[in-house]
Amino acid sequence: MLFGRNDKLGDSYETPVFGSTESGSSIPKDILGKNSIAPKTAYRLIKDELMNEGNARLNLATFCQTYMEDEATKLMAETLEKNAIDKSEYPQTTEMENRCVNMIAKLWNAPKDMNYLGTSTVGSSEACMLGGMAMKFRWRNRAEKLGIDITKRKPNLVISSGYQVCWEKFCVYWDIEMRLVPMDEEHMSLNIDKVLDYVDEYTIGVVALQGITYTGKFDDIKKLDALLEKYNKTAKISVPIHVDGASGGLFTPFIDPDMEWDFRLKNVVSISTSGHKYGLVYPGIGWVIWKDEEYLPKELIFEVSYLGGTMPTMAINFSRSASQVIGQYYNFLRLGFEGYREIHQRTKDVAMYLSDEIEKIGLFKIYDNGENLPIVCYRLVDDANVEWTLYDLADRLAMKGWQIPAYPLPENLQDIIIQRIVCRADLSHDMAELFIRDLKTAIKDLNNANVLVHGKETDKKTYGFTH
Ligand SMILES: *Cc1c(COP(=O)(O)O)cnc(C)c1O
Repeated sequence: MLFGRNDKLGDSYETPVFGSTESGSSIPKDILGKNSIAPKTAYRLIKDELMNEGNARLNLATFCQTYMEDEATKLMAETLEKNAIDKSEYPQTTEMENRCVNMIAKLWNAPKDMNYLGTSTVGSSEACMLGGMAMKFRWRNRAEKLGIDITKRKPNLVISSGYQVCWEKFCVYWDIEMRLVPMDEEHMSLNIDKVLDYVDEYTIGVVALQGITYTGKFDDIKKLDALLEKYNKTAKISVPIHVDGASGGLFTPFIDPDMEWDFRLKNVVSISTSGHKYGLVYPGIGWVIWKDEEYLPKELIFEVSYLGGTMPTMAINFSRSASQVIGQYYNFLRLGFEGYREIHQRTKDVAMYLSDEIEKIGLFKIYDNGENLPIVCYRLVDDANVEWTLYDLADRLAMKGWQIPAYPLPENLQDIIIQRIVCRADLSHDMAELFIRDLKTAIKDLNNANVLVHGKETDKKTYGFTH
């Protein structure tokens, strides 16, 4: 007799996971399974399927957080059920969101004589959409008043060709002409000398990047502000700046507080950032702040119920968990200014150490040595005299678990293949030393390897390392 066994499956509570029916059969993939399975078995099967994705901590391709303290993780897990949009049901969560907005507005030097407004979002993409929409609506309202024929042409947005894809989405979704200022090798950021060639009465705004995703460089926003200040003096309709500070927005204020890139600049009207990049929270959380209510047209604000009254909100999504907001507030409370500064400074030191070591190898031209964002970005020197490419090197490093992609630069520079290392808080100096060791080994292996490379025909159709 199978005492205590589940009749349907023949498995019981005691059945070991790897003795279970499911562990010996194909699991539901395209059609919902007919019966339930034990939670421990479901957990193990799913966890195991995810195993070959590697260790997120070794993924140096992403800006997104891969580590939070145990207390933060616990707090976030315990608050997953709270809905960020239910301001009335979770008023203290709402209060924490507002505290975060206040803290960030101060980090960005919001002027005391103005009334800033801001909100959390799912990430920078949503934050950029909101910033862009505000510029579009405000442009239209002003253009109509100034007698500009708004039906004659599409409004346009000016940005460097090093833009992140969310801006292309914004322009497609909201039917805006995207005007790209090309980057060249000399200007690996917004070419200030060329910006005005792209600006006209239909320009809703210029987007400046405080941290270009490709290279980690900063646009010269102070210079851009001076340029637009001059332009706006005589222009029929003034052109504002939205700063996409996805990565730099919560990095620069701690590492270089004297750098003027934020609301201290007159024409910067809104700024967005990702809390899950250098805000040190797991994805997805972002923030957007307008310097003054004037820059956020009223049509874009909706009311949700809050403590018997209503509260203004601005979001593309409705329901989402509030746990990321709570995680952000945990970090602000726990780390304080000094904690963020220490972590970011150490991250930057690690980036500069990596850059030095990589340069010493003698095969690479460094584009970014970590002095802006803690990112190291490089290409093979022209006379490297090696048979392999950065793609091969990326593959070889992946064998040691490091995920460091190689990819082409954007339009105009697309023939240049670069490799980029994003240093994050959880990449310690010791880990960086291990990486350099693995990088040198990978190069040695590639130099000694007998590989069929890049379509070259040889008699033996082999691919692989035969040393
Ligand atoms: C990462 C990034 C984004 C998108 O951010 P998400 O938070 O992932 O939506 C937008 N702009 C820049 C410059 C970025 O680096």
